[in-house]
Amino acid sequence: MKQKIKVAVFKFTSCSGCQLPFLNMETELLDLAEAVEIACFAMASSAVHPGPYDVAFVEGGISCARDVERIKMVREQTKILVAIGNCAVHGGPQALRNRLPFDEVKSAVYPQPDLVEGYPTSKGLAEYVPVDGFLEGCPVDKGHLQDYIVSVLQGKAPEVSTRSVCLECKMKNNVCVIVAEGVACMGVVTSAGCGALCPSYDRGCYGCFGPSADPNLSAFSNLCRELGLTGDEVQRKYRYIVSNAKAFREEADKYAPKPGEG
Ligand code: SF4
Ligand code: SF4
Ligand code: SF4
Repeated sequence: MKQKIKVAVFKFTSCSGCQLPFLNMETELLDLAEAVEIACFAMASSAVHPGPYDVAFVEGGISCARDVERIKMVREQTKILVAIGNCAVHGGPQALRNRLPFDEVKSAVYPQPDLVEGYPTSKGLAEYVPVDGFLEGCPVDKGHLQDYIVSVLQGKAPEVSTRSVCLECKMKNNVCVIVAEGVACMGVVTSAGCGALCPSYDRGCYGCFGPSADPNLSAFSNLCRELGLTGDEVQRKYRYIVSNAKAFREEADKYAPKPGEG
C-alpha cells in the first residue's frame, strides 16, 4: 500500500470557520482517510503528531509576535504550506484595523486594552513566510480543500481558478441582480469558488472570495456611482470582508475621504 501523506491543519488569528469545512467533508473524509494521515488538527483531535508534514493547511492571519514565531516553525516542518481562507491569504476581516490607530481600535473593543498584546496590523501568511498555495474564501470552500488534497495525492499542480463569480452565476441561470434590481453586486470583480451563493438568493455578492484575477475595479466603482452609491459607500464596498487584498485596498484608497472631508 502506498504511504499516506501526512497532513496538518493549523490555526492562527481567525474565527476557526475555515477549519469547519474539513469536518463538514464527512463521507469524503472517510475516503481520504485511506490516503491521508491527519497528523495534527486541534479542532478534531487532541492527538498531535510531530512534523515533518507533507501538507499544512493554515487558517488565520498573523497579528502578533507569537504568530510569527509559530508560522516560521510550521514552515520549517512542512513541504507544502497552503494558506486557507481570507485571514491566511489577506489578513482577514480583522485587517480592517490596519489603517486605524491601534490604541483606538483596542479601546473600542476591549475593556482593558492595555492587556492586549498584538501587532497593529493583521496580515496574510505570505508576508512572513513562503506560501505554496492560496485558497480564497471566508470561509474556504470544502470542495477546494478536497481538490487540493487530491492534486497532491496525484502529484499534479492544483488548479487555481481565474474566473469571477459572474461566470458561476451565469452557469446557474441566475437573473443578474445588477440588471434586475440595481444592486451593486461585487461578483464581477470577485474570485469564483462559492458557486455564486449570494446571487442565487437574489443578494449581491460582497466579495468574500477576494479579488478575481485582474479585476476591472475602476469600471466597477464607476458602475457603483451610476447606481447611486456615494464615494464613501464605494470605499466601504472594498473595505469589508477582504479589506486587505491589495487590489481592493488600492481601489478603496481612491474613494477614501480626503482630510477635512470627514
Ligand atoms: S477566513 Fe473567514 S471564516 Fe475563515 S477563519 Fe478567517 S474570518 Fe473565519
Ligand atoms: S448577479 Fe452578480 S455575480 Fe451574478 S451576473 Fe450579476 S454581477 Fe455577476
Ligand atoms: S457570492 Fe460573493 S459574498 Fe457570497 S459567498 Fe460568493 S464570494 Fe462570498
